[in-house]
Amino acid sequence: MSHPDNCLFCKIAAGAIPSRKVYEDDELFAFHDIHPAAPVHFLLIPKLHIDSLAQAGPEHAAILGRMTLLAPRLALEQGCNPYPEGGFRTVINTGAEGGQEVHHLHMHVMGGPRPWLRG
Ligand code: AMP
Ligand code: ZN
Repeated sequence: MSHPDNCLFCKIAAGAIPSRKVYEDDELFAFHDIHPAAPVHFLLIPKLHIDSLAQAGPEHAAILGRMTLLAPRLALEQGCNPYPEGGFRTVINTGAEGGQEVHHLHMHVMGGPRPWLRG
């Protein structure tokens, strides 16, 4: 684990750094990406600090399951069109070669009418 005290997304989940909140419960927090790559682009994170998907273990199975199952509901609430004509993309960047810049596990959820800025 890195240093949660110094982690941008831990601070966002705790409300210590402002964000445009999408969702919050005891375990999960979601907020709009500051540089959206699509008409809908938010980040879904566990409040628990986990550096990356590469650091996740069996003890995190339930929280990762909850994140995955919450994504479609929040995507629709945020304006993504329904499957199958609509839909959304989920991305978890992992490590430098995976394009991970913030080392607190997060799922990008992107959607909305194309074209998108990236992808
Ligand atoms: P990644 O490259 O997968 O680590 O993605 C990090 C994402 O966090 C990028 O898409 C950034 O635009 C986003 N980001 C960085 N700082 C903030 C912030 N303060 N509030 C919201 N999103 C942020
Ligand atoms: Zn963190």
